[in-house]
Amino acid sequence: MNLHEYQAKRLFAEHGVPIPDGKVARSPSEARDFARELGGRVVVKAQVHTGGRGKAGGVRLANSPNEAEEAAALILGMDIKGFTVNKVLIDQQAPGIDQEIYLAVLIDRGRRLPMIMASAAGGMDIEEVAESTPEEIFKVHVNPDLGVRGYQTTYIADGMELPRELWRDFHKLVVDLYACFAANDASLTEVNPLVITGEGKLLAVDGKMIVDDNALSRHPRIAEMRDIEEEPESEREARKAGINFIKLDGNIGCMVNGAGLAMSTMDIIKLFGGEPANFLDIGGGAKAEQVATALRLILSDENVEAVLFNIFGGITRGDEVARGIITALDQIDTDVPMIVRLAGTNAEEGREILASAQMETAATLSEAARKAVAAANGAQE
Ligand code: GDP
Ligand code: MN
Repeated sequence: MNLHEYQAKRLFAEHGVPIPDGKVARSPSEARDFARELGGRVVVKAQVHTGGRGKAGGVRLANSPNEAEEAAALILGMDIKGFTVNKVLIDQQAPGIDQEIYLAVLIDRGRRLPMIMASAAGGMDIEEVAESTPEEIFKVHVNPDLGVRGYQTTYIADGMELPRELWRDFHKLVVDLYACFAANDASLTEVNPLVITGEGKLLAVDGKMIVDDNALSRHPRIAEMRDIEEEPESEREARKAGINFIKLDGNIGCMVNGAGLAMSTMDIIKLFGGEPANFLDIGGGAKAEQVATALRLILSDENVEAVLFNIFGGITRGDEVARGIITALDQIDTDVPMIVRLAGTNAEEGREILASAQMETAATLSEAARKAVAAANGAQE
């Protein structure tokens, strides 16, 4: 789950990371009042679940309550990369910015360890830095039993040529950010930029945090921070229906029961030269209504040129799934070609139902994937 900047920074602050004073406003007049309370010189920042707000005009400096009101009026309602701005964060301006640093704690899946990543080339897109000047990024892995060690932050501070008098503060800040990461089961806590202010202090002016969805039951307070308005419509609907859905960039929609089977279905599609449009696991015992919802989700993506069903009946019964597909197709007007591979419990009954509805079936997964790729390519020509 993605948090807003203001939520992330408040959690950082609970662990001692220095952040500017700030308040969240929902209207220009509120922005004006908060700017006055905060001393007049503020930054007005769009709160949306995407980066690059600065470049998009979603971050504006204001030097008076009037200017804050004007800035909020410009930013509220803006569309940034498909997200509508409903809230702005009013933060006290940093007292001058001498340098912008990138700092993050994240999971390195390859090494199965948390990793600290930092660069003196902060403020910009870290992916860009990683591409053009990878030697400017410093990484250390954290042993969770030991926590962040002094020599690790010294290595990073030295590599970044951080002014010597800030090394001690930098160490404490990294330890605090790591504590926030660990305590909240985050997969990412990122500060970009961490600035050195004109007064020579470190200050986290931006914050991004992702909390592992699987750990939300341990963090009811964070689960409540979910901003429903900000989530892609399709993922919101999927969660409501208890379907595990992740949108991807390809053109072959996938409906599969079981996460592992869904992964291998995507692999097989790629093996035959296709690109999956989504990951979708309808779970065990999927009933007709759930299949219909899943199909609507898949078809709501206009990139989808073919749909591949891969159902292995265990708890899930083939005839139920087949009825679900038919029910869904009754409700949805579509000419997207569909290929169904059914195996396991009641597969025979299921195939009969589908055959009588003139749907294409396949006996093996390879055959189904080949047909789906061909159908999707045919649609492109
Ligand atoms: P992002 O573009 O979505 O990553 O939003 P940021 O919060 O990182 O803001 C973008 C840029 O605005 C930063 O890199 C800073 O250069 C600038 N900025 C943010 N806060 C302040 C501030 O308090 N004072 C000044 N002068 N600039 C700021
Ligand atoms: Mn940023």
